[in-house]
Order: sequence, then structure tokens, then C-alpha cells
Amino acid sequence: MIRFEGVVKRFGARTVLDGLDLSVAPGERVTLIGPSGSGKTTILRLLMTLERVTEGIIHLAGRPYSHMPQGPAGGLVPSDERYLRTARRHVGMVFQQFNLFPHMSVLENVVEAPVHVLGVDRDEAEARALELLDLVGLTVRREARPARLSGGEQQRVAIARALAMRPEVLLLDEVTSALDPELAAGVLDVLRDVALTTDITLLCVTHEMGFAREVSDRILMFDHGRVLESGPPDRVFEAPEHERTRSFLRAVL
Ligand code: ADP
Repeated sequence: MIRFEGVVKRFGARTVLDGLDLSVAPGERVTLIGPSGSGKTTILRLLMTLERVTEGIIHLAGRPYSHMPQGPAGGLVPSDERYLRTARRHVGMVFQQFNLFPHMSVLENVVEAPVHVLGVDRDEAEARALELLDLVGLTVRREARPARLSGGEQQRVAIARALAMRPEVLLLDEVTSALDPELAAGVLDVLRDVALTTDITLLCVTHEMGFAREVSDRILMFDHGRVLESGPPDRVFEAPEHERTRSFLRAVL
């Protein structure tokens, strides 16, 4: 579903990803862990096309997805926005900050993109939105404006909104970092449900190690833009191979 081939990402002189190779199978649930600044969020932002690769290529659902600066063979020319818009529909993202539309109701927030981006019929989009609001436990809040909701509720709306686009890949970027523990727990419950009851491909950056352990098929430990080690959660958490992983886990667990 996702394949990074020799992906280099530089910001000015700073190399954040240095020839990253990474594959995620359809339906696989992968969590990226590692110290702050190691490049985890950059990977999600590249997949969301919020950043461009410096070198290398990203494939999504078997098709080249990232664009290279000069658009050589296999790469896309930067002007190929239409292609990107189509490709991007495979991917949904939930951010640390909820980024809801403040002037719209909860229901409208979930209905908006399917209607305006996918061209789904409004009644159908509303029916689907109500199902999703039920999934995240917010049916009763459907007419409220986001500002009237708690942070945890807003994040659950953001999850429903991402799922409304029927993405094949869901990217979660530290979605509970801005929440206090009790509200975070509610959001994690919803995500656990989504992860364990759908066949969506999940790529997740989180400091919630309990959640990572429960939902992930595979943990990738990052350090300085490289995968230091990778394996099933029990193996990585119980018997990490690298001292750097051990010291990181000691600090966060
Ligand atoms: P992580 O998610 O592991 O904390 P990030 O991917 O957010 O790491 O960041 C990796 C490095 O890239 C950091 O040193 C960060 O400062 C740098 N970085 C990220 N985005 C930008 C940007 N837009 N401009 C310059 N530097 C950036």
C-alpha cells in the first residue's frame, strides 16, 4: 500500500530522512516510535503531500505518488496537481490539532469533503456521516459547533471526518498529545475500534506505547531519520535489539 524507496528529505542543509526504504502492506497497522526530531512526522507529511521529497520516490497503492524536483522517469512533475489530488484521496490524516471548520456544525464538518471533493450525494453523505458520528460516540452533538466541544470530542469528529472520505490509509500524527489523559483515553478507544474492526492501513506516530502495542502489527523505531529496528510490538517492547531503543523505551514507558 505504501512504499518509500530511497527517500531523502532535506530542509535546507539539514537532512531529515536519508535514503529511507519502508513498506507497509494493505491493512497493516504500523506505529512509528522514536525520539522527537527523528523524522516521524515528516514521513506522514510526505504521504499527505504537505511536503515534497528531495530525492527518491513514494509509491501509494502501487502507483508513484511523490513528485521529484525535475520529474524524471517515474517521478511526477510538480505541476501535476490533478494527479496528486486523485492519489491523495487514498489517504486520510488526523493531526495533533484538530483543524475542524469552526463555522460548521459537527455534522457539516463530516459531510463537507465527501460532497465537495468526491461529489457524493448529500443525503448519502449525511447518512454515512451519522454512522461515523455514532462510531465515535457523538451523534447527540451533531448540530453543535466545534468550539462547544471538548478537545477529545473535537478529535473524535476529526477522526469521523477523515473516515468519511473512505481512505485506504489513515495517518495519525500524535492525535492525543494535545489532550489530557482522560480525554485522550476516549479518543484512543475510538481509534482502537477503527484499527481492529476495519481493514484500513494505519500509519501512526504516537507516544502512547500501550495503544501502539495493542493495535500495531509492527513497530518501527526511528532515530535520526533511519529505521533502527522493526518488529512485532511484543518483540520490540520486551526485547529491543538496540541500546538506543532500550533507552528510549525506558524514558517513555
Ligand atoms: P518527529 O516527528 O520525529 O519529532 P519531525 O519529522 O517533526 O520529527 O522533524 C524532523 C526534523 O525536521 C526536526 O529537526 C525538525 O526541526 C525538522 N523539520 C521538520 N519540518 C521542517 C520544516 N518545515 N522546516 C525546517 N525543518 C523542519
